[in-house]
Amino acid sequence: MNLAIVGAGLSGTMLLIHLAQIYLKKPFEAQIFLIEAQPNQWGKGIAYSSTLPYQPLNVTAQKMNLSANDPNDFLDWLGKNGYRFGTDSFVPRSIFGDFLSDKLAEAKQILGKNIQLIADKVLNVEPLPNGGYRIELAQTAAIEAHKLVLAVGADTPPDLGKGTDKIFNNPYEPQLIDKISNNARILLLGTGLTMIDWAISLQKKCSPKTIFALSRRGQLPKSHFLQTEKWEINPEELVKICTIRQFIAHFNQNIRLAAKEKNLSWQTVLDTYRSHLCIIWDNFNEQNKRIFLRFLRPYWDSLRFRCPEESAQELELMQQMGIFNPLAGAIISIQTHSAGLLVQFKNKETQQVEILEVDYLINCTGAANFSQKMPLLYQNLVKNGLAKIDKLNIGLETDPEGCIWGDNTPAQNPICALGAVRKAKEWETTSIQSIRNQTLKLAEQLTQQLSAAFAV
Ligand SMILES: Cc1cc2nc3c(=O)[nH]c(=O)nc-3n(C[C@H](O)[C@H](O)[C@H](O)COP(=O)(O)OP(=O)(O)OC[C@H]3O[C@@H](n4cnc5c(N)ncnc54)[C@H](O)[C@@H]3O)c2cc1C
Repeated sequence: MNLAIVGAGLSGTMLLIHLAQIYLKKPFEAQIFLIEAQPNQWGKGIAYSSTLPYQPLNVTAQKMNLSANDPNDFLDWLGKNGYRFGTDSFVPRSIFGDFLSDKLAEAKQILGKNIQLIADKVLNVEPLPNGGYRIELAQTAAIEAHKLVLAVGADTPPDLGKGTDKIFNNPYEPQLIDKISNNARILLLGTGLTMIDWAISLQKKCSPKTIFALSRRGQLPKSHFLQTEKWEINPEELVKICTIRQFIAHFNQNIRLAAKEKNLSWQTVLDTYRSHLCIIWDNFNEQNKRIFLRFLRPYWDSLRFRCPEESAQELELMQQMGIFNPLAGAIISIQTHSAGLLVQFKNKETQQVEILEVDYLINCTGAANFSQKMPLLYQNLVKNGLAKIDKLNIGLETDPEGCIWGDNTPAQNPICALGAVRKAKEWETTSIQSIRNQTLKLAEQLTQQLSAAFAV
């Protein structure tokens, strides 16, 4: 039996690590292919292969465990490798990337001849008459697999301008910072965590003249406030939330209660909602989902994706020094001119059209939705009847188990999805906590199926 996992970021790698742990206890017979398109991202994916000089994890070290049975695996690894970080430290993402690489190497060793790593890009997948899949690769011969897992992560931001070396559409491009000259004026589009990593990295490495950060509402991420105690919410109450109005009312009420009864911060309460958000999201009808995406999301994201306090302080200092300038408004046009770029935007505060003259623009707006740009693999999956795009254009349709169904999906054998691929159904799918839960469950299911097939 063959299993193909497409994508060796956190999701694909964690699945392989869980499969290896199961294999140690109960060996199974299978050929596993782990396929990764970007050579620099093996085992790390976009998030943990970053080469920026400033890029902390956005959750504390104690929450970055891979294994459910060994909740201190990352902390222990840090200790063994001579790092002096505490449980509440925000460790650089590149160090977590090294941890993932080590764990991938361990899993490879455990699985031995059962695992094959393929450095190539999957372009197309077609159903086979035997109920499996044919996987077409960009450079090497196609492979066939009985089971297929899609762990391809989120896409890069939408393309803003072509034919200029002043606009960078992929903020995660390796060594991108080396292309930025010193003393430059830079526009960071988007005001989320990627923007913060960039602003502070530029300050550390490029002595920028000015950094503008522009988004429609200009909401900057809030900072963490760490508390050990948790706030509990009865899941039975959550399943009754069906509208945005009910959600906001419930949220505000719990924030007041948690502060009054246990002196807990809104951050602690929000983290409880975050871990149940897939239930609430799934209860919203299409109209409420659209309202969330259009109006609530910028505020939710700035509360949900929080930065370490140290980052917020650094940014504030840069703002006081006049280097960092956050702006709210919508871009009208971007033009190149001899010295750089002229970016025309409507300022939300003044309602005036203004022009920013900058040397570079780095697009930190997050993954494009499918109406802006759709990866070739997704286009082919849809064309071949193996997947359907959800109505909101933010992902593929998946069922509650994370399976992708299309009209031509082989009976009983849908493609399995991990991470961002499941966003349309679950919304909250990319934190390490969500990915850990998804991969643990899938590893169990897959090994049962592999063992059953072998038994036959
Ligand atoms: C900058 C950043 C920082 C983050 N920090 C944190 C954090 O501190 N804590 C936290 O919990 N979460 C964090 N996250 C959330 C993050 O999404 C997840 O933790 C996780 O990294 C997602 O992993 P993934 O494997 O699903 O996706 P990815 O990391 O995107 O990996 C997918 C992989 O699939 C490969 N791929 C795509 N298409 C193909 C194809 N056609 N063929 C072959 N290979 C393909 C890609 O090259 C990529 O390596 C962060 C996210 C980002 C973007």
